[in-house]
Amino acid sequence: MPYALVHYHELALKGRNRGFFEQRLIQHLQRALKNTGVTDVRSLPGRIRVTFQSETSWDDVQDRLRHTFGVANYSLAHSQPINYDAPDLQPLCEAMATALQSKTFQTFRVTTKRADKRFSKTSIELNREIGEYLCATTGKRVSLNAADVTIGVEIVDGTAYFSLVKYPGPGGLPTGISHTVLCLISGGIDSPVAAYRMMKRGCKVIFVHFHGRPYLSRASEEKVRDLVSHFTRYQLTARLYLVPFGDIQRNVVVNTPAPSRVILYRRMMMRIAEEIAKTERCWGLVTGDSLGQVASQTPENLQTVSNAASLPILRPLIGMDKLEIINEAQRIGTFDTSIEPDQDCCTLFVPRHPNTRCRLPDVEQAERSLPIQSMIQEGITSAELAEFSLHAA
Ligand code: ATP
Ligand code: MG
Repeated sequence: MPYALVHYHELALKGRNRGFFEQRLIQHLQRALKNTGVTDVRSLPGRIRVTFQSETSWDDVQDRLRHTFGVANYSLAHSQPINYDAPDLQPLCEAMATALQSKTFQTFRVTTKRADKRFSKTSIELNREIGEYLCATTGKRVSLNAADVTIGVEIVDGTAYFSLVKYPGPGGLPTGISHTVLCLISGGIDSPVAAYRMMKRGCKVIFVHFHGRPYLSRASEEKVRDLVSHFTRYQLTARLYLVPFGDIQRNVVVNTPAPSRVILYRRMMMRIAEEIAKTERCWGLVTGDSLGQVASQTPENLQTVSNAASLPILRPLIGMDKLEIINEAQRIGTFDTSIEPDQDCCTLFVPRHPNTRCRLPDVEQAERSLPIQSMIQEGITSAELAEFSLHAA
């Protein structure tokens, strides 16, 4: 029976949090691995074991493990029952020699971990004895520092598991352990990366997008749908609120001076987002702002925007350079969608010379000529909700 052994970072798991973390990770894996042929996901001391059938596609299983936050690394493992008091290593060694037959390599090493110190041999003894057997049967050499293949052996609960490759997982914390946040997603490069960062730290992310219809095309909305759908591979389901923003912007344009418009738009976005966040029980609003990147992201303007909401505004990219953000967008697979041409609502009615220092009193003064409450209400009532799921319903 093939298994995947899943490891998480022990450091993140001090004391009482551990059981809770593990339970969340197991629940997520059970849901993520639905329809792949996996028959069991369970906790073993210090790791999680995923059992699947021999006809199950390892690629499918891997695809889910690679996108599950909380997974530090995983391996495809084979198992052999082992007697703790009088261990006979012969069947284990034979199984390993068979597994190595299809591999081209010159050197190897054996790295054993005992989850359970009741086992009568030490890890070092096991490494040596298994190594000697494999040298004799395969004719290959041991190299401790630069081995072509590292054979991992794990002795857990009366079973010896061995694996030939350890694959990296995405790390982070299991989805949902850090509760729910609402991300303002624009279809640009930055906000999807910001959403990813929060997901990685265990947040379930809900999305809101403000689009320029009826004045602009559906392009930004389609991009955002693609991006949100992309994230279902991490969080399995996702909710996206689509808020028509064109009329709200027009209202701002007609009634307020040009240089502070972008900040006024942003403050309206924050207010509407905050209302949605409350109904979705979100503890924070997430944006893709990075300090100084554009006129709306100067220290003064960020503060003036933040002031419009009372929930914490989380800006996970605040200290990143554009190039670093682009690299991350490429790595997580959002970049190609983000750079497709669209018409972001922020390009609608944009002043030629935006003010980089919109002070709160001036902005509040300008807002006195706007029916703020009814604009928020208009945004909320005209919002559409789109729901996404990795598994077809
Ligand atoms: P991005 O690449 O995420 O669009 P950006 O560098 O283009 O960011 P801005 O356009 O100034 O910067 O937007 C800053 C942040 O404001 C975005 O990262 C996003 O969180 C939010 N935002 C901007 N426009 C929208 C929108 N139309 N809908 C939802 N959120 C938006
Ligand atoms: Mg943008």
